[in-house]
Amino acid sequence: MKKIAFFSTQKYEKDFFEKANQQYLYELHFLEAHLNENTAVLCRDFSVICCFANDQLNKKVLDILWSQGVRLIALRSAGFNHVDLAHAKKLGFTVVRVPTYSPHAIAEHSVALILGLNRKIYRSYNRVRENDFSLHGLMGFDLSGRTVGVIGTGNIGSIFAKIMLGFNCKVIAFDIKPSVECQKLGIQYVDLEELYHSSDIISLHCPLTPQTVHLINASAVQQMKENVMLINTSRGAVVDTGAVIDGLKSKKIGYLGLDVYEEEADMFFEDLSDKIMQDDVFARLLTFPNVLITGHQGFFTKEAMVNIAETTLSNIAAFEKGKVQNNV
Ligand code: NAD
Repeated sequence: MKKIAFFSTQKYEKDFFEKANQQYLYELHFLEAHLNENTAVLCRDFSVICCFANDQLNKKVLDILWSQGVRLIALRSAGFNHVDLAHAKKLGFTVVRVPTYSPHAIAEHSVALILGLNRKIYRSYNRVRENDFSLHGLMGFDLSGRTVGVIGTGNIGSIFAKIMLGFNCKVIAFDIKPSVECQKLGIQYVDLEELYHSSDIISLHCPLTPQTVHLINASAVQQMKENVMLINTSRGAVVDTGAVIDGLKSKKIGYLGLDVYEEEADMFFEDLSDKIMQDDVFARLLTFPNVLITGHQGFFTKEAMVNIAETTLSNIAAFEKGKVQNNV
């Protein structure tokens, strides 16, 4: 029976994988450890491993994996920026992923961040629990009629754009490959400069690539409207956190909603409530009353979890039969 080692396993994932495994009967080994240079040795005896977004698949780790006999890396994520693909290819690995498990989940979470920030739900929740029914500081704005700029109109960005059209927003977009479907819906593609100048809300849905690392830097922030709302549910490093903190301090950025953070790898998905926060930049972000951060939970819906488990095991089964599907 084929053995699969799962890295960075969370309790809530096991049930979904065990259910999906009923038709394959693989031997699933759930490890809590993140994959890195120290833990890669745990792959001894496994030819297939399954990794998540914060596992490290750099050159050194890939070399260890290959020498231990691992041949298939099954990512249970859509993003693959954490894999040194060139080196993986050179060694001969097959790398597969789950390209679209639920684009609705992330698109809807982006909208949740917008609504939460705009109407300050997180503040009113706390106030009402303390019998404080005052409204000062809670005023929002009508979304209807506002301009929303979408960067990256792929699976997630296009669904997000459609939802925002439903709020009667004007939607403009930037993508290196504009979508005809989005254009048909009335979404206008503009260059980044115009998107920054015109948008009341900017939402990031592009992948992390060498071109998008720190796409939102000091110069981009400078070009944005006063009091802009910035939402990032894509990948943390698309945003230069220092530049955004400066933007918040100068009030250029009026609202910041993050589901991802560039240094999230050692924090997100863990309960660190007993620990001392070591990341001073993240700690600074938490001090702003107009910043709403969630810990990479955009993908986390029941539907998405079912799809992730089923597609991952189906990718592994295809590899076993000498076929490759959903390869990166
Ligand atoms: P996708 O590949 O379907 O769409 C990405 C779009 O970005 C494409 O249309 C592409 O042309 C465009 N793009 C690429 N480079 C660009 C650039 N330099 N500038 C502007 N646009 C560019 O991907 P998707 O499924 O829509 O996912 C988008 C991102 O969301 C993923 O890469 C991933 O990082 C992130 N994501 C986050 C979560 C979460 O839980 N928060 C979950 C899944 C995915």
